[in-house]
Amino acid sequence: MSVLRSTGSGPALARLDAIGRTRLASVPTPLFPAAALAGHLGTGAQVSIKADDCTGLGLGGNKVRKLEYELDPTRLQGVTHLVTAGGPHSNHCRVTAAAAARLGLGCTLVVNGEPDDPERGNAHLHRLLGARIVTVGDRGERGPAIEKEARRIGAADGRALVVPLGASTARGALGYVHAVAEMRNQVGGGNTPPWVFTSSSSGGTLAGLILGCAILDWRARLVGVSADEPAAWIRETAFGLATAAARLLEPGPGSSSGNAGAEGTSGPRAGLARRVRRMAEDVFVTDDFAGAGYGIATAEGDEATRVFGARAGVILDPVYTAKAAAALVARLRDGTISAGDHAVFLHTGGHPALFR
Ligand SMILES: *Cc1c(COP(=O)(O)O)cnc(C)c1O
Repeated sequence: MSVLRSTGSGPALARLDAIGRTRLASVPTPLFPAAALAGHLGTGAQVSIKADDCTGLGLGGNKVRKLEYELDPTRLQGVTHLVTAGGPHSNHCRVTAAAAARLGLGCTLVVNGEPDDPERGNAHLHRLLGARIVTVGDRGERGPAIEKEARRIGAADGRALVVPLGASTARGALGYVHAVAEMRNQVGGGNTPPWVFTSSSSGGTLAGLILGCAILDWRARLVGVSADEPAAWIRETAFGLATAAARLLEPGPGSSSGNAGAEGTSGPRAGLARRVRRMAEDVFVTDDFAGAGYGIATAEGDEATRVFGARAGVILDPVYTAKAAAALVARLRDGTISAGDHAVFLHTGGHPALFR
């Protein structure tokens, strides 16, 4: 919060301060230079790492910041259990289970797909964090299973709060506004804004970065690197979430009614939504590094993992960050990012996937 205030607070920032949030992340996360990595790649650009793998809770990662806003204290009133869903190696499920444990709540995870035997990686951690695991056959069965679990908890005099998949909601995206404020402080507001590379899948993290840049008028060039989904889908989803999140910060009169779509050229909410749209020319989304799809490693990702490890002391994960790092390495090599530029790699976590 002090980070935001020191950057000067507009009305949007004042609104953000007023939105309920449960503090779970260890922030600000460090931003440190990776000079040896840049030297090894032969680039004259400056390369830095923003270490959101170090957000702390339950081994950290990008889901912690998003969850802080999903778990608004007013939403938690009377709640006894968190319920969410994901794949057997979901980072989101791990962090949700850790949040439940820290807050003294029960947790049910609806997981699609057969668990490995013995369970390893995130699947192992889901259990260590005390979650009840309900296994379903495929993604389509997750919704009904979540409802059934919520009813079961209700029938036992409890109350369930269902956390949406990946916490990739307008509220969740607000968490990444803080990350932008931190980066701006760490890079120096007076300096040319950097490139920022992030792994992207459900678009929530990228949405928050877009909104943060719009609020702070910080023209960083944002690169979302798909781990699985088509680039066009991620782009559209991220801008949709960023616009919805902007509305949370600029509620006009009658914002709860059908007025929500009226973000034209006038009205109190035009300002921020328009600034979000103006970010379009500074946002790049690529699926060129996703390879054969979710969780399937790529040769470029493996190479980036070795280079980041040996030349920066940074451990990447094969599902998300390796692919994002491969994109950064490619753009440094082909000169898209050139001498004098600054590139920040946002490390979104995911380490347990190394141990599955
Ligand atoms: C979930 C996740 C992402 C993708 O973030 P989105 O907000 O869903 O785009 C990237 N990296 C890691 C390690 C993740 O767990």
